Amino acid sequence: MSDAIRPQPGILDIALYEGGKAKLAGRDEVLKLSSNENPLGPGPAAQAALKRLVLGNAGADLHRYPSTDHAELRETIARVHGLDAARVICGVGSDEVIAFLCQAYAGPGDEVLFSQYGFLMYRISAQAAGATPVAAPERDRHTDVDALLAAATERTRLVFVANPNNPTGTMIDPSEIERLADGLPDHALLVLDGAYAEYVEGFDGGLALVEGRSNVVMTRTLSKIHGLGGLRVGWGYGPKAVIDVLNRVRGPFNLSSLQQAIATAALEDHDHVARSRRENAAARDWLTGALRAAGVGVDDSLGNFILARFDTPARAAQVDAALQAGGILVRRMDGYALPEALRITIGTMEDCRRLAGLVVQTLEAD
Ligand SMILES: *Cc1c(COP(=O)(O)O)cnc(C)c1O
Repeated sequence: MSDAIRPQPGILDIALYEGGKAKLAGRDEVLKLSSNENPLGPGPAAQAALKRLVLGNAGADLHRYPSTDHAELRETIARVHGLDAARVICGVGSDEVIAFLCQAYAGPGDEVLFSQYGFLMYRISAQAAGATPVAAPERDRHTDVDALLAAATERTRLVFVANPNNPTGTMIDPSEIERLADGLPDHALLVLDGAYAEYVEGFDGGLALVEGRSNVVMTRTLSKIHGLGGLRVGWGYGPKAVIDVLNRVRGPFNLSSLQQAIATAALEDHDHVARSRRENAAARDWLTGALRAAGVGVDDSLGNFILARFDTPARAAQVDAALQAGGILVRRMDGYALPEALRITIGTMEDCRRLAGLVVQTLEAD
């Protein structure tokens, strides 16, 4: 290719996002605990909706373009969460909403701020928009509001905070988030990433803060507690003026008719969400205790995963190898500069027992 054909500045600096591994050479069956997926899978309502779509008319409507305004899906989101449907935007996963925010609000010379172990997509989307990613330190793997406030400058346009955070699993008090929203400069939009909000009993994901002010947006996803990571549907909620801006950069047909129909059905499956939350909490608390008893460092996690910290990176690699030999995939954390840690998605209680058994065996063998 000609040297004259070059991407925009910054694009070649983007480190490719690596998803959690899904396969192990020479094995048909693996236990995949590397991508924070719901071990129960999608709920019965989502599955029934898909069957209706496939069997109903076998795709005879697929020549029709999908709804461009996602009205039914947005109205369902609004009803389920008690929101104003006009202030909801839907995307191809919340990843796409994050990308819209960066594209619309940040560009060359601007800064996009997040915390040290923040979700990698914040950095990638900022770089894709030509903006400068800035990471503020955390305090003992917890979001540090003072550090974020200290890192905000006249160039900061967006501040991303996931609460609970991934990959740490930790959560900070909503009053701390409010202090952050109050303290940021007027030109910075605070984005609360609520990908794991439903796992926290009674938590609104930051909704009250969005309702109370003009500088806060919340993102949510169907990929986690709804068990629909493969469907790719997420949404955002914010001030009308912000949502209107994001809709200008959103492709008119970003969500297919199948995505919209299945997501709409899944949102009303309250039993599946409640069961997923309950079983996750029981298995997560058991696994946390079992690993701590074996001397592994584990912070209290509020999500559907834990971050297990070993003495050294070599020890983490050794445990990872033993798990793989036993057919279990977890996430190495080198990409997050946590090489001594493994992020382990909470599977079923049986999955957790199997995993803990292998970890304990590996640590005791030495
Ligand atoms: C999984 C995850 C998301 C959701 O991504 P989708 O694109 O909706 O699948 C967003 N933020 C964080 C922190 C996550 O861990």
